[in-house]
Amino acid sequence: MKQVRTALTIAGSDPSGGAGLQADLRTFRAMGVYGLGIPAALTAQNTAGVQHVHELPAGFVSEQIAVLVQDIRPDAVKTGMLYAADAVEAVAEKIREFSLENLVVDPVTVSSTGVLLMEDGVLEAVRRYLFPLSTVVTPNTYEASVLAGIDIRDERDLRDTAVKLLESGPRAVIITGGHLKGRAVDLLFDGEDFLSLESERLEGEYHGTGCVFSSSLAACLALGYDIKEAFAGAKDFTFRAMKSAITVGRGMKVLDI
Ligand code: PLP
Repeated sequence: MKQVRTALTIAGSDPSGGAGLQADLRTFRAMGVYGLGIPAALTAQNTAGVQHVHELPAGFVSEQIAVLVQDIRPDAVKTGMLYAADAVEAVAEKIREFSLENLVVDPVTVSSTGVLLMEDGVLEAVRRYLFPLSTVVTPNTYEASVLAGIDIRDERDLRDTAVKLLESGPRAVIITGGHLKGRAVDLLFDGEDFLSLESERLEGEYHGTGCVFSSSLAACLALGYDIKEAFAGAKDFTFRAMKSAITVGRGMKVLDI
């Protein structure tokens, strides 16, 4: 029988498919990994933006994880928009209870159209409960700056921020979406080395970039790559999917995954 690697996303639903759970599942598939998906929050959303967020009870998020994991143990897990602090705690508790490994935590805060994708205190809860369990955390420069309390203006601030975030317990930190001389820079710090990967900066608004980056990273970990290889694989996958982005609705372009 053919053996497949599996990855689980615990994230918000985006009915338009550009971001969230739906984009994560397509990313897993594109990378040759069998996708498992647990919605942690629902949104009424299209490519023009998020209209409304509907929370799910934290107990039901826990139940979905427990029921699934008793049957299939994922080779990697990614968390995205969890929306509420009690959902964050519930997810952390189950990840700990079932000793789930290769955890990628994407601390989702706000959509590119400015809609809040979390309640007050969620970023702090993610730092406190999920960061210590995670293999890699993938904040963008805004989220990293809020989490570390550092105003990021240059390359040095970016490095200081990564160092500070590592103190909260992840094995590695990747800060995405940095700017450097018109190039897009993502920075990894694993406690020993800094690794910065640059690509051409693509103009325009792309929907779901952070989701696709973190889920492709989780897929690479599920396939057995180490953190640095997974970083390179995710950066390459995301860049190529942005480069061939497609228009499916009246709003933002979505990544071609
Ligand atoms: N909806 C969901 C469920 C998400 O998880 C995210 C981002 O993580 C978004 C919307 C926002 O995506 P974007 O800011 O790329 O439009």
